[in-house]
Parts: sequence; structure tokens; C-alpha cells
Amino acid sequence: MPFTSIGLQPSLVQAALSQGYIAPTAIQGTAIPAILQGRDVLATAQTGSGKTAAFCLPLLQQWLTSRQGSPRQVQTLILLPTRELAVQVGNTLRELALSLPRSVKVAVVYGGVSINPQMMTLRGGADIVVATPGRLLDLIASNALNISTVSSLVLDEADRLLDLGFADELGSLLALLPPYRQNLLFSATFPPAVHTLAEQQLSQPLRIDI
Ligand code: AMP
Repeated sequence: MPFTSIGLQPSLVQAALSQGYIAPTAIQGTAIPAILQGRDVLATAQTGSGKTAAFCLPLLQQWLTSRQGSPRQVQTLILLPTRELAVQVGNTLRELALSLPRSVKVAVVYGGVSINPQMMTLRGGADIVVATPGRLLDLIASNALNISTVSSLVLDEADRLLDLGFADELGSLLALLPPYRQNLLFSATFPPAVHTLAEQQLSQPLRIDI
């Protein structure tokens, strides 16, 4: 199955090809059409499956086809457990976005470093925010950003998010998000805590087990 047959627009197909991706991986072939239709997705996916592009490509397309105001408002929020993962997902988004006809602002924020440069980055808003939960809450508390405009939420490596003790932060963040939104949850394993999170947050998700 080629990238041209899963609902992606030419600029997003070009973005995939520019990365040297020739055909969608299994998770991409299943998740991308569902995400483009606006469905919630609950995916068991390991690193190496191509899961990052499986959510980045359709989320970039959603941004491209949405009405964009000024200043930029956060449309997509990607929560993940570590700085390394945040940097990696941010880089993937930016590389894929190079093929788009309009420039998307991706902000990557994580703890363990000074908050001030991240506050500067968020001035003027952002379209897509990639974040670890604790630092995101600190930035919201400082009025550096607002997540009430988010229409798509990704919980990446949800099992590690909960293992690393982010359950409380996650709960606080979820309460600040609009109730009607698209939710995409990716996890390598499905312990009870992830099940509960999925049941509480996802609406009739497409279940993908790769
Ligand atoms: P991930 O599972 O998201 O950590 O991705 C693992 C690796 O697979 C990354 O280095 C990606 O660049 C690469 N990748 C993602 N999608 C594809 C694809 N369709 N074809 C070839 N490589 C891919």
C-alpha cells in the first residue's frame, strides 16, 4: 500500500517520502486513515514500529486543513514521559513539516532545564506543543500558554508516563483540556492503569495491536 492511498494530501506524502519512507508501516497504514477521520485511537506500539510518524503525519495534515488564527493557538498537544522522547518527536514533526506549504510552529518543552527560554519560545503562541507533564503544568501556571484550544491530544508511551509518576500531573492537565477532542493513546504495554486511563479518556477508539 503506498502513502498516496491512505488519505494523505500531496504535501504530507512528500513529507514521508522526503524522510526516505517508501511505504507506510503496519501501524501507519491503519492509524493514519482513522486519525484523519477524527477517530480516537488506542494503539499497542513499540518503538521502531513507525508510531511517531503514524500520529505526526495526520496531525500535521489536520493542522494544515484547519482554520488558523493569529496569534497561534495550541491545536495539538503531545504528552510524553521524557526529555529525550520530546526532542525526538519534536524533530520528527519539524522535519516532516519542511514539506508543508505553510510554516507550523512546534514548541518542545520539558523539565530539567531553565524554564525561561521555553517561555520565550511560547510567546506568540504555538500550533503544536510537545511536552512532559510537569513542565507543561508549570508553564500553564505561569500563563505562558493555554491548552483550552486543543483539539487533538496524543499520549505517547502512556505506560511510561504513568510508571514515572506523572499520573497526578496528567489528571490536572486532562482537566484543563476541552472535553470534546480527539485522543490518541500509544503504549508499549497495557497494565491496568493504562486501561483505566483509556476507558476514562477515549471515545470508541479504534484498537490497534501491531
Ligand atoms: P518510531 O517507531 O516512531 O520510533 O520510528 C522508528 C524509525 O522508523 C524511525 O527512525 C523512523 O524514521 C522510521 N520510519 C518511520 N516510518 C517509516 C516508514 N514508513 N518507512 C521506513 N522507515 C520509517
